[in-house]
Amino acid sequence: MLEIKNIQKSFKDHMVLDGLDIKIEKGDVVVLIGPSGSGKTTLLRCINLLERADGGTITFNDMTADFNHMAKKETAALRKKTGFVFQNYNLFNNKTALENVALGLIHGRKMSAAEAREIAKNALDKVGLQEKYDFYPSQLSGGQQQRVGIARAFALNPYVILFDEPTSALDPELISEVLSIMKQLAQEGTTMLIVTHEMSFAQEVANHVIFMDQGKIVEQGKPEDIFLRPKEERTRQFLRRIN
Ligand code: ATP
Repeated sequence: MLEIKNIQKSFKDHMVLDGLDIKIEKGDVVVLIGPSGSGKTTLLRCINLLERADGGTITFNDMTADFNHMAKKETAALRKKTGFVFQNYNLFNNKTALENVALGLIHGRKMSAAEAREIAKNALDKVGLQEKYDFYPSQLSGGQQQRVGIARAFALNPYVILFDEPTSALDPELISEVLSIMKQLAQEGTTMLIVTHEMSFAQEVANHVIFMDQGKIVEQGKPEDIFLRPKEERTRQFLRRIN
């Protein structure tokens, strides 16, 4: 179980995360929705410790740490619990697909190059890129690059994979190949926290939906409750605007 309590983050005097709580159980697929600027990306970046939150705690099983004064050891241990899939893939352009996936295993998990290559190959096979091991990002479509990004996160075997609007940089015809890989991972029991504007995907794949606005959770629940019977006016307004 991964639990975030009372997470807070400001940029100068702009409060972006205003005391949110989130609990993620093994196998959960949680979708986070909300208007532009509501703090979704910042929340994921703080959970992954790419960004340092100003306050709040993170608990993983029996280990609890303060975001704001975390020992190096805790930071290293907690970073291993999350994988991150970026909006713009964040691949190394001078590395092949296989190298992009293997690098994190060699440096982050201290695996031998041979072991890392085997795991990287399996992860690339899983996302349907068995023919593309030796291709560079520039030789891949956006959808294929994002699948490498997903394979890279998956290969690390984290507790939860955080997806930050994984399809928003893609041409419309490439979106479905990425969503279908994500759906497959979800069906296989991968624990996921996903920021997305793909509402029909969210409705189909999530087991929990969180609507946030202005750094706070406004409403959360089962997808059918949030999408079909939202209780809060702000949620209704948001859903009307994007549908
Ligand atoms: P979107 O859906 O548009 O990606 P979001 O909900 O993910 O939006 P964030 O990217 O988390 O929102 O941004 C929340 C707020 O924090 C925005 O007002 C943004 O301008 C601000 N912000 C984010 N990162 C920084 C930063 N490094 N420095 C200053 N302000 C920032």
